[in-house]
Amino acid sequence: MTEPALSEAERKMQFLYALRSKGVTDARVLGAMEKVDRGPFVKGIFAQRAYEDMPLPIVCGQTISQPSVVGLMTQALEISPRDKVLEIGTGSGYQAAILSKLARRVYTIDRHRRLVVEARAVFDELKMTNITALVADGSFGLAEQAPFDRIIVTAAAEDPPGPLLAQLKEGGIMVLPVGQSDAVQHLIRVRKTAEGLEYDEMRAVRFVPLLEGLGKDG
Ligand code: SAH
Repeated sequence: MTEPALSEAERKMQFLYALRSKGVTDARVLGAMEKVDRGPFVKGIFAQRAYEDMPLPIVCGQTISQPSVVGLMTQALEISPRDKVLEIGTGSGYQAAILSKLARRVYTIDRHRRLVVEARAVFDELKMTNITALVADGSFGLAEQAPFDRIIVTAAAEDPPGPLLAQLKEGGIMVLPVGQSDAVQHLIRVRKTAEGLEYDEMRAVRFVPLLEGLGKDG
């Protein structure tokens, strides 16, 4: 027996329910995730699965993260409306779009030109004018716009890259997955205080690796 098709509103309710049940409870984050449809960021044959809480493949062999992981990372950043945020790993642009609803300004960097070009087109279409997407090796951050209130890395490194720690404002928060790409990785949150860096470990995750240099199309 086939299930009756769900309406758009029902799918959205299920989506938000799945986020809440996985620990995304911050009202501003849930509000942003309700406003930004994941559909335009998931292209081709997987677009119809945009509301499922699953990571999905995108071009250049990359993946758009699972919505609940996007929600948990965004929540851990504790973004305020005045913040300037840096994201490393634009991918589909979905995470940057969520950030853009919560922050004043978002800079997002990917090593694949094609991903940046496609993400820019979606940001334009959705009139998200506070996002700047750039092609670069994000391990070095974005010195000309530093320091940042918040930094999020959506590809896994063995350790937090030094330039990113340096470009985080005092009082700032950085969230990233650390660990080897083929082993267990953990999301960690780093707070920069006057006394130094404070680390806390969140849940286990699986992200694509943070690679050096530009992609072949970069
Ligand atoms: N945040 C994305 C998912 C990111 S997937 C989304 O919402 O869809 C991880 C991305 O990190 C990939 O697009 C990959 O190209 C990028 N990446 C990996 N290493 C990088 C580096 N050194 N600099 C910039 N981007 C990098």
